[in-house]
Amino acid sequence: MSLRLFNTLSGRIEQFQPLQDNQVRMYACGPTVYDYGHIGNFRTFVAVDILRRFLRQRGYQVRHVMNITDVDDKIIRNAAQAGIPLKQFTAKYENAFLEDAGALNIEQPELVHATDHIPEMADFIARLVEHGFAYRTEDGSYYFRIAKFPQYGKLSKKDFAGMEDGARVDVDEYEKDSARDFALWKAPKPGETSWDSKIGPGRPGWHIECSVMSMAELGESFDLHAGGEDLIFPHHENEIAQSESGTGKPFVKFWFHARFLLVEGEKMSKSLGNFYTLRDLVLRGHKPSSIRYLLSSVPYRHQLNFTFGGLQQAAASVDRLRNFRQRLISGHFPRGSDLTLTTLASETSRRVLEALDEDLNTAQAQAALFDMVRLANAAIDSGEMKQDDVQPLLSTLDQFDEIFAVLKDDDAPKMQHVADWARAEGREKDISPELLEALRSNALSDEQVNHKVEQMNAARAAKNFAASDAIRAELTANGILIEQTKEGVRWRRK
Ligand code: AMP
Ligand code: ZN
Repeated sequence: MSLRLFNTLSGRIEQFQPLQDNQVRMYACGPTVYDYGHIGNFRTFVAVDILRRFLRQRGYQVRHVMNITDVDDKIIRNAAQAGIPLKQFTAKYENAFLEDAGALNIEQPELVHATDHIPEMADFIARLVEHGFAYRTEDGSYYFRIAKFPQYGKLSKKDFAGMEDGARVDVDEYEKDSARDFALWKAPKPGETSWDSKIGPGRPGWHIECSVMSMAELGESFDLHAGGEDLIFPHHENEIAQSESGTGKPFVKFWFHARFLLVEGEKMSKSLGNFYTLRDLVLRGHKPSSIRYLLSSVPYRHQLNFTFGGLQQAAASVDRLRNFRQRLISGHFPRGSDLTLTTLASETSRRVLEALDEDLNTAQAQAALFDMVRLANAAIDSGEMKQDDVQPLLSTLDQFDEIFAVLKDDDAPKMQHVADWARAEGREKDISPELLEALRSNALSDEQVNHKVEQMNAARAAKNFAASDAIRAELTANGILIEQTKEGVRWRRK
C-alpha cells in the first residue's frame, strides 16, 4: 500500500506518485500577513503539515516551500491605517504567524517573500505579453487574457463558455462565478508602495506571486500545490493559466485543498463574533496541543465544525494519550511478554498507516490508536502487561506522534509566551483566569515532577511521612494530581 490522495484537478482520489524518484516538491500558499492568523487558517496549515509529515514517514524526501504574501490590497490598507511602513507592518505579523505555527508544532517550510522576487515577476509578465497572453492597459497595469487559455476553469470545474473577452477585474479576490481578465501587475496609485521594473512601475498581483515563486524554487512542473478550498478559484485557477501559458508545460501534478472550518456551525466572521485567532484561544486557557489535535481530528476534506465542547474533548484525548505514555514509561511490569499486546501494537501501527494512506484519514488513525490505548490500559489494570510489551506500544505511539505531534508536554512555555505578548500589547485584561491557572499548574516541568515524586517515594519508604506529605502538598499546589496504583505512584496534571 501507499498513499492515495484526492487531486482537485482530476476530481478523484489517485495513487500518489512524485514526478521524480522519491522526491516530493510541494508548495503551499502561505498567509497574507496583515493580521494575526485565525483558527481557519491554521486548520489548513495543520492539514498541510500532516501531509508533509506523512509523506516523509512514507519515505519521500520532501521539499516544501511556502510563500509569505507581504504585499496586497489588504496589507497596503491596514499598514496605511496603522501609519506604519509596509515592511515593518508585515514583519510583525509574519513573526506572529511563525510563532503561532511553531506553537502548533507545524514544521516550518522554506519561506519565500513576494517582495524579494519582484524582478522575476516582471520578467514573467513580459514573457506573457510577448506571447499574447497578457496586455497592458493605458494606466500601465497588466492583465492576463483568459480567452487565450481555453482550459481556464479546469481546476474549479467551472464552465466559462460565453465569457466576455476583455472584461477586467483588478482586485485579487472576486466573485466566484465570473471569469475576468485578472491583474498581473497594478500601476502605482498615489500613496501606495510600488516598485520600478522592466515593465514599468507598479506592484504584482497576488496570483503571479505564487506562480513565479513556486516555479523559481521547485521548477516549471512540480508535484503538489496546497491551500484552503477558497483558493481553488480564482487564485489557483489563475496560477495554472499564467504558469502553463508562460511555460507550455503542466504546472502542478496534485492539487490539495483543505475544506473550510466552521465555528459552532457558522462561517467564522468578525461580525458574528465567532472569529478566533490562535492567541484568542490560548488567552482563554486552551492548550496549543488541544487545538492542534482538534484541527487534525477531522479529515482535511470534511467539514470541521469548531466548538468549545470539541476543544475540551480534544484536550481530554491528548491527556489520555500522554497519561498512557507516562504509565508505560514509569510502570513496573513483570518480566516477559504477552503476545496479544505485542500483536496489538503492530496491528495498530498498520491500522494507523492504512488510515493515513487513504487520503489522510486522520479520524480513523486516531480511532485506531485509541482502541489500542483502551485495551492496553485494561491489560495494565489486570496485570497482563509485561516488560517486553512496553517498547512495541511506545513505538506505535511514536509513529502516531510523528504525524500528530501532541505527545510532548510542551504547552506551558508556549502559553506563557502568549501571556507575555498580551501584557506587552496592553491586553492584560484578555488574560483569562483559566490561562493563569494553567500557567500555575504547569510551573513544574515533567522532569521536576518526576524528581519530586521520587523524593516523595523515598521519604515514604523511610517512613518519613511528614516529609512525603509536604512534597505531596507542594505538588498538589502546583496542579499535580497523585494517585497510588498497583504499579506505584502515578501523577498527572489537573
Ligand atoms: P490568507 O492569510 O487569508 O491568505 O489564508 C491563508 C490560508 O488559510 C489559505 O490557504 C486559506 O485558504 C486558508 N483559510 C482561510 N480561512 C479558512 C477557513 N475558515 N478554514 C480553512 N482554511 C482557511
Ligand atoms: Zn498562492
